[in-house]
Amino acid sequence: MSGLDEPCGIQVVKVKDDHTYKLDEGALKEILLREDVKDLPVVLVSVAGAYRGGKSFLLDFFIKYLSAPESLRNSGQWLGDENEPLSGFRWRGGCDRETTGLHLWSEPIKILYKGQPVVVLLMDTQGTFDSSSTVRDCSTIFALSTLLSSVQIYNLKENIKEDDLQHLHLFVEYGKLAQDQETAFQVLMFLVRDWPYPYQHAYGAVGGEQLLAKRLEINASHTEDMRDLRKSIYTFFNAVKGFLMPHPGFSVSEEKFDGRLFSIRDEFKKSLLDLVPSIFGPENLTPKNINGQPVKCCDLFYYFKTYMNIFNS
Ligand code: GDP
Ligand code: MG
Repeated sequence: MSGLDEPCGIQVVKVKDDHTYKLDEGALKEILLREDVKDLPVVLVSVAGAYRGGKSFLLDFFIKYLSAPESLRNSGQWLGDENEPLSGFRWRGGCDRETTGLHLWSEPIKILYKGQPVVVLLMDTQGTFDSSSTVRDCSTIFALSTLLSSVQIYNLKENIKEDDLQHLHLFVEYGKLAQDQETAFQVLMFLVRDWPYPYQHAYGAVGGEQLLAKRLEINASHTEDMRDLRKSIYTFFNAVKGFLMPHPGFSVSEEKFDGRLFSIRDEFKKSLLDLVPSIFGPENLTPKNINGQPVKCCDLFYYFKTYMNIFNS
């Protein structure tokens, strides 16, 4: 990959200064058209949301899980050594540049789903609500990542707020414009980081579902717009999920923090052991479908180009 041997986050879509979008076809080809993966069904998991929300940090745990031997994954031992620094998307100054756009993990990961090999791709988004990005850029990046992914993780801080829902609505409406058919997107997960009220709704998927049900419930005080928004979120996606995560501990914001587990709160680690297999466990993988058809890695190359053309026109 770009002359580097170590896998890394590769920027495949860039937002240029004139607010047009540039696809790095060469980089994308190297990932999606690799001989050993191009004809396999693909699972694309994307993480989107505000800047500095811990998205890349989380993706690095996805990489850890996916790269661990099956025996460690199955026995819940995949988090590994307490003293090992975390590597992957978050290395700044490396090849993972911090410009607005979409980044793919350079290494497609092969894994078995119902006895058949599938390819898992991880996508990091950069720039949603970033102060220097315009609303249009953010919407496009979010919309593109929703169109391309089979699982979109909407990464939020502390709660699901009305603003978060409104932004989501805007992004998804935007994505719908690029779709030629009335099919729903696949999985949307509201992932709440630093959830402060575990005594109200417990950490994990059950608490997440409860909070989500509460936030998406329509009540008498809602305006017409607020009602429409709530109804549409369920129709836009085949499945809408929630998950509440604890704070990882304040050591993660220290300058010297390098991601080693030793400095992360046990509760956070416990939550990772619950969350990550719920997305990537062999029973839980969601292969990408478009118009009801399974999408292969090489097809995704075509979809990247098609959607980019639409957003640039
Ligand atoms: P991104 O911009 O969303 O990709 O955010 P990063 O993954 O680069 O993380 C930004 C900062 O937040 C880093 O200092 C991380 O150590 C820290 N961080 C990561 N996960 C969490 C979390 O769940 N809660 C909090 N409070 N900080 C986190
Ligand atoms: Mg990041």
